[in-house]
Amino acid sequence: MSDVGIIDRAVAAAIPLVPTRLVRTFAAPYIGGETLEQALSVVRRLNAAGLAASLDVLGEDVHDEAGVRAMVAAYRQALAALAAGSADAGVSVKPSALGAAIDWDRCHDAIVEVLDGAAASSAGGGRFVRLDMEESATVDGTLALYRRLREEGRERVGIVLQARLWCTSADVKALADLAPDVRLCKGIYLEPPSVGMQDREAIRHSFSALLRQLLRAGSRVAIATHDEVLVTDALAAIDEYSVPAAGYEFQMLLGVRGDLARTLRRAGHRVRIYVPFGKDVFGYSVRRLRENPAVAGHVARALLADLVRGVRHGRRRPDGQGVR
Ligand SMILES: Cc1cc2nc3c(=O)[nH]c(=O)nc-3n(C[C@H](O)[C@H](O)[C@H](O)COP(=O)(O)OP(=O)(O)OC[C@H]3O[C@@H](n4cnc5c(N)ncnc54)[C@H](O)[C@@H]3O)c2cc1C
Repeated sequence: MSDVGIIDRAVAAAIPLVPTRLVRTFAAPYIGGETLEQALSVVRRLNAAGLAASLDVLGEDVHDEAGVRAMVAAYRQALAALAAGSADAGVSVKPSALGAAIDWDRCHDAIVEVLDGAAASSAGGGRFVRLDMEESATVDGTLALYRRLREEGRERVGIVLQARLWCTSADVKALADLAPDVRLCKGIYLEPPSVGMQDREAIRHSFSALLRQLLRAGSRVAIATHDEVLVTDALAAIDEYSVPAAGYEFQMLLGVRGDLARTLRRAGHRVRIYVPFGKDVFGYSVRRLRENPAVAGHVARALLADLVRGVRHGRRRPDGQGVR
């Protein structure tokens, strides 16, 4: 790695110390807006370009009942609006935003309410709801919740598996009887070596092997990566296993590699863009900025300029709001 790369990565690691206002500015390309109306207009723009979407209401680690109820209401409102606009879009939900931080039964009930909203929101079985995967400590709980939902007969729900985790291949085997609809990604959460692979090439290798394991097991797979090596490998796997168009899609994050998404779309593949929206931008944005070390230098310069302004105006903190 070059010196510049090392410096950028060090700054990226310090991003959680950056004032919320600056994080918000740099993360703007990754966010569909603060309001549902803004996010819907992004979805309309994506749909017009032939790209599907998955809406995510920003927020995580909700510890109080009122917060869970507000999150359920936000999702049900989003689903109703997607139906009203006949949008090509589903939703993604974070268990920790829907009660898992309280207990898994509460989370189950909240997700059932979202699923009921999804079922009512369109003909043909309803819109699809994807359970995002969070830190490794939540993986078993999330997979157990997914199994429970499927055993209750709820079909329009899927999960996410993270290629970096050592346990994922065993999880694929354990879930095989459900033929789950899986979003496969590398995994964004930093995990210790005992839990997750640290080496970039090892994670790529795991992704490639898991994709084939899932396709052999008859899963529909959402291939969620911007890594061109893995996209090329996935195209080879789709050929190798003669996967029909309904058996896979590519997924990317809003604001990342839109060029690659459009190229895949033009080549005839289904592509879905993850569109987070809402006011609670901090956690999501920090993860995106950390993944994009090139932005870290700009963040550092802006932070410095902000500090200098703050000193000139006698402020102790860079944005006067507190640093997280
Ligand atoms: C639709 C979708 C849903 C996801 N859901 C989850 C989930 O539920 N749980 C979870 O743990 N992880 C999730 N992830 C995140 C994922 O695990 C990775 O952290 C993320 O996608 C980056 O990995 P990559 O495969 O794109 O490879 P990388 O090697 O990280 O990126 C490949 C290339 O993409 C570009 N790139 C990637 N990220 C950025 C960025 N932020 N800004 C600018 N350029 C960038 C760069 O050119 C980079 O070289 C999701 C990812 C996607 C696309």
